[in-house]
Amino acid sequence: MTPTISTFLYLIAGVCFIMALRGLSSAATSRSGNLYGICGMVIAILTTLLTPAIAKYSGIVVGIAIGGAIGAFIARKIKMTALPQLVAAFHSLVGLAAVFVAGAALYNPTAFGIGVVDAIYTASLVEMSLGTIIGAITFSGSVVAFGKLQGLISGRPLVFPKQHLVNAVLGIVVIGLVVIFAMHQHHSIFWIMTALSLILGVLLILPIGGADMPVVISMLNSYSGWAAAGIGFTLNNHLLLITGALVGASGAILSYIMCKGMNRSIINVILGGFGTDPATASAAADASDKPVKLSSAEDAAYMMGNARNVIIVPGYGMAVAQAQHALREMADILTSKGVKVRYAIHPVAGRMPGHMNVLLAEANVNYDSVLELDDINSDFGSTDVVFVIGANDITNPAAKTDKTSPIYGMPILDVEKAQTVFFVKRSLASGYAGVDNELFYRDNTMMVLGDAKKVCDELVKALKGGGH
Ligand code: NDP
Repeated sequence: MTPTISTFLYLIAGVCFIMALRGLSSAATSRSGNLYGICGMVIAILTTLLTPAIAKYSGIVVGIAIGGAIGAFIARKIKMTALPQLVAAFHSLVGLAAVFVAGAALYNPTAFGIGVVDAIYTASLVEMSLGTIIGAITFSGSVVAFGKLQGLISGRPLVFPKQHLVNAVLGIVVIGLVVIFAMHQHHSIFWIMTALSLILGVLLILPIGGADMPVVISMLNSYSGWAAAGIGFTLNNHLLLITGALVGASGAILSYIMCKGMNRSIINVILGGFGTDPATASAAADASDKPVKLSSAEDAAYMMGNARNVIIVPGYGMAVAQAQHALREMADILTSKGVKVRYAIHPVAGRMPGHMNVLLAEANVNYDSVLELDDINSDFGSTDVVFVIGANDITNPAAKTDKTSPIYGMPILDVEKAQTVFFVKRSLASGYAGVDNELFYRDNTMMVLGDAKKVCDELVKALKGGGH
């Protein structure tokens, strides 16, 4: 295949990726977006495989077989709730690949067409440095993020004295090393630069607390894109450059949107130190003595069956229990009884961006009845019943009132303004941010304790059994 044809095909693949992003921006067009992405990737892989520069296919075939088998295995086994840590793990691999490619280019520059050993072009040395620095930060940062999300490392912000100063000094040293490396091409400088970037990645992510992890995942996604773009420079591969820049830019935009959704500044998140602290954890423990109104699935069925309008607020617990299908069945019965049923989606509900939308779409919930926070928040005051299922932090008024709370400033769904609020969860335990939710003890709140799916099944039974 001639370079002109492959450049043209790479361009088509690039356009497919842009169309994919466009399609994925709304639930209704997401399937076609996915299809564009698949087409783009098939074109990209085939074009690369037909490049005359490839001397031997055996290594590639073995790589595809091993990687493909691992990917297929994980895709079949992974639980929806574990997707964030899987994404973090995948980002770490992109970062590692960037480091390896930069290292390979350093030791065999001829193969990359960037000069000869000890006489590599200066521009390529800078590109390799950026590739390895961003790659190393992405790798170690993603490993820490994986550890936090998987519960292997504490989700609390791990802060230490003068951390910002240490990070700033490390960053300046790394930049200084890039200059020295570009001038002298010492291999040892390259590896010291890589090692310091690995440490920087750990130090950047460790202080970030649980409540900010969604933004961190999306930021690491962005870093992994820039790392891929760095590889694109080193390999002189335009498609990798385009794709890396697309991932980098879209990840950055997503981080910005999420920060806005949580009312946090991105600088604040990057500097870290936000999340659960011991004081709020003990506050949660004290709260268990307060009186709560316990209710049952039958009561909830009766109240909702007789309501004019109901808003369902799904959260992480719905995902854990896989209650979305039973929930949709419940909503369908209510709708058939003339009740107006809508779903309210908080931007960080669940454990990944769009988590609830994906689950509701999987259960064939009509998109028109699924509304974002800004579009539905003013309706709670005129709502008869709110059905909060497996959600907690996203409804917690402490975000508005308690300046010391780790979730302070995050916009919440104002469920307490409704006439009656049902909370379906297994206990009075706190959510991801570890903060007690005072709504559990309010007069208009009824707690239905139990597994979300089980409660929904009981509700469906009760609704089918009882008349209007
Ligand atoms: P929360 O984690 O605040 O609350 C979920 C609640 O679900 C828990 O309190 C738990 O209570 C309950 N629960 C767990 N399992 C079940 C079950 N089987 N049946 C019924 N209930 C169950 O989730 P929210 O969705 O309200 O808020 C999301 C939180 O996650 C925010 O703090 C957000 O910052 C964070 N986050 C979000 C990410 C994102 O991108 N969306 C990524 C990472 C973190 P109990 O144990 O009593 O049942």
